[in-house]
Amino acid sequence: MKQSVCPICEQGRLIAIEDMDDAEYGGVRRRLPLHYSECDVCGSETATPEQTRHNKRAMIAFKKEVDGLLTGQEIVALRKRLGLTQAQAAKLFGGGPVAFSKYEKDDVTQSESMDKLLRMADQIPAVMPSLAKQAGEDQLLLRINESRIRALETRRYVSNELKQAGDSNASCKHHAQQFKLIKSASAMEDTLDVG
Ligand SMILES: [Zn+2]
Repeated sequence: MKQSVCPICEQGRLIAIEDMDDAEYGGVRRRLPLHYSECDVCGSETATPEQTRHNKRAMIAFKKEVDGLLTGQEIVALRKRLGLTQAQAAKLFGGGPVAFSKYEKDDVTQSESMDKLLRMADQIPAVMPSLAKQAGEDQLLLRINESRIRALETRRYVSNELKQAGDSNASCKHHAQQFKLIKSASAMEDTLDVG
């Protein structure tokens, strides 16, 4: 980091310090990273806008966790599972064009209702197509439906294969084959979901 001159004594240089500090929220105590600068002559402590932002993000992430809300990292993972860009997520879930950038960097805490909607979209397959339709996102709706159909077809294909394998032979060899089919099917569905 670039060292700058101390604004207090105008002689010393500001040294960037990465420390830990106790934080308390909702009855929970936690050691959080604390970034600041200290003058090597007069000892004054200041924080650059970047350091302040860093500290604020750590605090917001901690508060989200205590309040039982999705943290920024969890929202990134959830959005990627749904196969959405930040802009698409904002169109579907609301919150304005930069909402997801802010939630994901822990600059802003999502509302409780936004948090619930995100969890529902992640857990209930019917939510995403409905939101895409409401938002008038035809291309996205098409893609979501296609990936759901492919997932259903995979499931149907596998259950047929399993049935045939069970009908023709019940030997250990076939059990092994069934196992492989189930594994490859779930791997295929994982890929489809990410879309
Ligand atoms: Zn100084």
